[in-house]
Amino acid sequence: MTDQQSSDIAALADAVASGDRRALARAITLVESARVDHRDDADALLEALSGRGGEAVRIGLSGTPGVGKSTFIEVFGCRLTDAGKKVAVLAVDPSSTRTGGSILGDKTRMERLTRQPNAFVRPSPSQTQLGGVARRTRDAVALCEAAGFDIVLIETVGVGQSETIVAEMSDIFVLLLAPAGGDELQGVKRGIMEIADIILVNKADGDLKSTAMRTAADYAGALRLMRKRDGDPEGFPKALTVSALDETGLEEAWADMQALVEFRRKSGFWAARRAEQARGWFIDEVRQGLLRRLARDPQAEAAMAKLAEDVAKGRRAPGSAAAEVLAQLAKDTA
Ligand code: GDP
Repeated sequence: MTDQQSSDIAALADAVASGDRRALARAITLVESARVDHRDDADALLEALSGRGGEAVRIGLSGTPGVGKSTFIEVFGCRLTDAGKKVAVLAVDPSSTRTGGSILGDKTRMERLTRQPNAFVRPSPSQTQLGGVARRTRDAVALCEAAGFDIVLIETVGVGQSETIVAEMSDIFVLLLAPAGGDELQGVKRGIMEIADIILVNKADGDLKSTAMRTAADYAGALRLMRKRDGDPEGFPKALTVSALDETGLEEAWADMQALVEFRRKSGFWAARRAEQARGWFIDEVRQGLLRRLARDPQAEAAMAKLAEDVAKGRRAPGSAAAEVLAQLAKDTA
């Protein structure tokens, strides 16, 4: 990296740390970039920012299209900014990795929240490399924390693995559901029930109100049957009703989120979880870095392809073939 590049990165880091939203947007664009030289800049930027800023409450929020995520985040986010909080909204949109289209990312969403000086709304990227979703998002979260945001909402549609990715990087995970008949309860994947800390049944208004209340009661019953998670207070996970349209139930939902966060902070669960996340991400970075190094070296790549073929044909065992690649890599480094 040239001196000029280093000082550009340092300037960008300072601007992000000062809470400059345009700088934050540029920084996120940098960490999202698939270009190798951008990756080096992004790493330098994240290093320059590590330990700066504060610790945001990371709230993962999932729900199928149409359940009211944008509407909810808009009104919920505005309440938080009205209360003096700095709120960032990020999106993990698995559809964009495959089709280039996007379920979450259209620009007209959350206009009111976007206009708040204390808010930062990031549309989901139009194109992300497969496998890069988790990394891109956790880097973006780190940047928002460095920029001094108090709350980072990470939104995702309940498709594929995206909610697991989001739950893993969140402090609490909220599932937004629509009112439904009792038999539809089965339709929610058990896996997602297991990772939800709070289920919010939205659209509890007008004709849908009583159905929503019944749905929430059904889910509350189902959650009670599941094992209480280690380190969680009584009463969690729980199910509540809200109406993003009427703006009801929001205070209660926020109170519960805060109660859970406070409890986890005090019990040490929070710190342990964050430490565990950081450790996992480090290992992940090493793994990705090794693979990138192999991919950058045509000879190594060709050797890998040949070994992969040998393994596929049963001529070599996977373990010893991998050991050969790693030994070569170690020799190259020495
Ligand atoms: P998303 O796809 O999950 O982001 O859902 P949207 O926020 O775009 O909402 C989908 C539709 O549901 C829109 O027509 C909203 O107006 C409507 N909607 C959202 N929240 C509520 C609510 O609390 N009550 C009612 N009745 N409709 C809602």
